[in-house]
Amino acid sequence: MRLLLVEDDAGLAAELQKALKSAGFVLDRAGDGITGEALGAGESYDVILLDLGLPGRPGLTVLRNWRARGLTTPVLVLTARDAWHERVDGLKAGADDYLGKPFHIEELVARVNALTRRAAGNLRRGLEVGGLCLDEDLQRAIRDDGTAHELTGTEFRLLRYLMLNPDRILSKGQIMDHVYELEADRGSNLIEVYVRRLREKIGKDRIQTLRGRGYLFPRR
Ligand code: CA
Repeated sequence: MRLLLVEDDAGLAAELQKALKSAGFVLDRAGDGITGEALGAGESYDVILLDLGLPGRPGLTVLRNWRARGLTTPVLVLTARDAWHERVDGLKAGADDYLGKPFHIEELVARVNALTRRAAGNLRRGLEVGGLCLDEDLQRAIRDDGTAHELTGTEFRLLRYLMLNPDRILSKGQIMDHVYELEADRGSNLIEVYVRRLREKIGKDRIQTLRGRGYLFPRR
């Protein structure tokens, strides 16, 4: 899953970046409202984390502009502690959830996971598609025969993206966008390598290759 963090506090941003990475998210960051608005509108994200007090353009304006353009990406607003009016303003402007600063990273990760699941129409804890379960806390896959398979960070991000989009053809480009950061080195056959490794763990028929079009994770 790919997240956008719009936050001008470099210290907080670095801390969040580290924590979200280890929770299996790919994160792009913008330090001001103008860059943030452009990235949010131009790139494809699963969830956007938006600070309200931003240089360049206030977070609320950024959010209103996104919604006015029809952007439906879930937005979690980061508000000042106890500022109830900020929360109300944020929700009115089209935010899906909010979190008051300071917050525990664990709570942020749990809320981001809940938002991605809600957006994918899956309200259960953890992901389950066609008998395959993805344990998001321990980053492992559990097959319907009960065997658990540990996943590397990239395998986990790839499998989660596939499982959140079952029965959909996903091009290599789309998968790259959701599994790697903008600046990451993107070797052209990296995805093939990771798909092969995943198949060894979750079963060969779980991920279908559609020649020239991409990959598909069938619900069964
Ligand atoms: Ca700020």
